[in-house]
Amino acid sequence: MARRLLNHSAALLLAAYLASPFVGAETLPAAAADEATAGLLRERALADSGAYKIVESLTTEVGARPAGSDADARAVAWAVAKFRALGYDKVYTEPVKFTAWRRLSESAEVIAPITQRLAVTTLGNSVGTNGPLDAEMVRFQDFEALQSAPADSVRGRIVLLTRRMERHRDGSGYARVLQMRSSAASLAATKGAVALLIRSLGTDDNRLPHTGSVNYAPGNAIPAAAISGPDADLLERLVQRTPSVRLRLNIATQTQADSTSYNVIGEITGQDAKPEIVMMSAHLDSWDLGTGAVDDGFGVALTMAAGALIKQLPQAPRRTIRVVLFANEENGFDGARAYAARDAGDLSRHYLAIESDWGAGRIYALRHPPQDAELTARLSRALAPLGITLDGAAGAPGPDLGFLAKAGVPWIQLAQDATDLFDHHHSANDTLDKIDPASLNQNVAAYTTFAWLAANTP
Ligand SMILES: [Zn+2]
Repeated sequence: MARRLLNHSAALLLAAYLASPFVGAETLPAAAADEATAGLLRERALADSGAYKIVESLTTEVGARPAGSDADARAVAWAVAKFRALGYDKVYTEPVKFTAWRRLSESAEVIAPITQRLAVTTLGNSVGTNGPLDAEMVRFQDFEALQSAPADSVRGRIVLLTRRMERHRDGSGYARVLQMRSSAASLAATKGAVALLIRSLGTDDNRLPHTGSVNYAPGNAIPAAAISGPDADLLERLVQRTPSVRLRLNIATQTQADSTSYNVIGEITGQDAKPEIVMMSAHLDSWDLGTGAVDDGFGVALTMAAGALIKQLPQAPRRTIRVVLFANEENGFDGARAYAARDAGDLSRHYLAIESDWGAGRIYALRHPPQDAELTARLSRALAPLGITLDGAAGAPGPDLGFLAKAGVPWIQLAQDATDLFDHHHSANDTLDKIDPASLNQNVAAYTTFAWLAANTP
């Protein structure tokens, strides 16, 4: 009831503000005018934020864009042109150096006691097998089980880890299996294993495996790949019948040192002489298997569109709004590392930052709210009609923003429903049809509301 009255009075203020040439923002209390404008932005975004067209363009005209590839370079050019077309005041790039990685070919099969082909994908950064690698398989439940296994049981073998990822709304099942992908290869290598296979980090039951990056400890690199869930089930059933299951793995990969990509940045210049920045970010690169629609074309489109809606207002925001599309998040976070290594003077201009890189679901919670109680109160009021509440959970800045958070940049989180995210995450199924335009508009509505209020709250 109280909420309805509040919205009604905000609507009246907004109507008066827009209808009369004699009633400027300065004649309304500033806070009410800001909140009325936030309401206008929110409703425009919900009606049609323009974001779906952006992600449709990226996934159709560029597609998969692994860092360092020709398609990645096309994505950078696409982003520069799109920021300009959307009317951003300033558009620029900053170079990012890294070692690019590329899959060339991959296959995996059971060769004894019977033969069966497996659906496999090599993990990012993995070394190759230098031709067919035949070895006996040894299966463990998870990273911890491998940790406590004696080296004798692992030496000369292909290690298989089979823990299933759990489905949760907040996507927390991912963190519980992530070590299998990121760190198990080097652990297995220290015990003498010749390769690592993992059950895909996914919640689906189809046969498309999920890739993702592996981090090697220096000197402990063995080939690492993920098989689909049904193939992991198959290997578990086989190894129950006979302890001696032999596999053949054939992986070829390539690296290119000193590759260059670019963080692409668009700004809407603020009115304030004191040059503070409200930042929205996503990552421009994607894995090579799908078209990077959900991860992270969704975040690219929503942050670009959220800024563009503000640019269409008759008045500029007080603080500058900066949208940053990071390079090579997926295979090394190199764009975020480069950005966080800017001089401290530039980083200290960041008033508040946010990142979108957690799928295409609706936003349900505001977490890690700003220190400023006034801004938190305004955000809570403006986001409530979108079904977004301050739920008291600790929150997380997101993978790229994590590097900036460590460098002292203040951040908030708008937490998305990730129930279905890991059905297609990092797989060939990450395509445009997985994006619900209404959910995308709801995300843009929340981000544009956030950006406006954060840019204008004194
Ligand atoms: Zn991502």
